[in-house]
Amino acid sequence: MRKNVRKFAPVLILIPLLFILTGCGQDPVTKSGMLLDTVVTVTLYDGTQEDLDAAFTAISGWDDRLDAFSDTSEIGQINSETPTVLSDEIYGLLKDSVTFSGTSSDAFDPVLGSLIDLWHIQDPEEREAPTQEQIDEARSHSGTNLLILDDSAKTAVLTDSEASVNLGADAKGFVGDQIKTLLEERGVKHGLINLGGNIVLIGGKSDREDFTIGIDNPFDTSKDPIATLTLSDVSIVTSGDYQRWFTDSSGKKYHHILDPSTGYPAESGLTQVVVVAESSETADMLSTTLFVMGKEKGLEFLKEIDPDGKIGAVFTEKDGTVTVTENLKGKFELNTEYQDELAVSWS
Ligand code: AMP
Ligand code: MG
Repeated sequence: MRKNVRKFAPVLILIPLLFILTGCGQDPVTKSGMLLDTVVTVTLYDGTQEDLDAAFTAISGWDDRLDAFSDTSEIGQINSETPTVLSDEIYGLLKDSVTFSGTSSDAFDPVLGSLIDLWHIQDPEEREAPTQEQIDEARSHSGTNLLILDDSAKTAVLTDSEASVNLGADAKGFVGDQIKTLLEERGVKHGLINLGGNIVLIGGKSDREDFTIGIDNPFDTSKDPIATLTLSDVSIVTSGDYQRWFTDSSGKKYHHILDPSTGYPAESGLTQVVVVAESSETADMLSTTLFVMGKEKGLEFLKEIDPDGKIGAVFTEKDGTVTVTENLKGKFELNTEYQDELAVSWS
């Protein structure tokens, strides 16, 4: 009898330990698809195929409701001047976007559709940039002053038929937050939602292990990540001039993050901004905004809106200077192969 007890005792101790070390003791499940105009991948470390399917059904639903170009979507109905009462969630997103636009002194503009459509920056191709006259005309039909929101009726009305709402700079963040909540309500504690580079972490990779997320090399995305961020339960959102662009016949490159004050792709000296925040919607709004503002102004703005220093950011300039906020110390690590190419400083 005694012999048997000795034989099995170590096994009984090992099983719970292994369970903790490997997180949940099951293989991750993953699913990818094209939604929200990008590649979406969800990986769950303690979830099921049904959880993944529920997440994808929900993402697809949000995609339909947020599509700026569909006559039947909530945003599309605002743009086609169809009187419509918005859902609480989409009204909330629109309200947040308009409020943030004011906070950012219009560097972020959710009513920039006329300019975004004019530039139509999607895939790499060779074509000519719009003329100054076209840009001036499109700029005159942009800005949140052209959108009237009614908090009690939950309606949004454009006062200019040439203006349009485009939430391309924060919709993915909003959807990321919604999907995280949905999966958590289904009991998922460890997962990674990737909406075209907008990352939302559910917990850590396991109870004991953070996720390690690579930061794209903005100078050549086919190369290794320039650095890693080791984190849990936050969102990491990247805006960069290498994500969507085209070139004109002289070889000049035009990227997709527009400076509303000029009507041209932002020339702030930055090539990439990564934002780490609890809310993916906030991170998404901020990454675009900080890119437009540039490093100096962006750092000041961050201090203004986040005096407690909860939001992290990594600014990479075209000259290879990388500036990382102090709150990412111990989390940000430069890939050693770039030690001679990139100069990292803390702010
Ligand atoms: P992101 O990739 O989150 O930085 O968002 C960029 C996308 O948002 C662009 O492809 C445009 O659709 C839209 N956009 C570009 N510039 C701005 C801006 N200054 N404010 C709001 N949306 C913008
Ligand atoms: Mg954004």
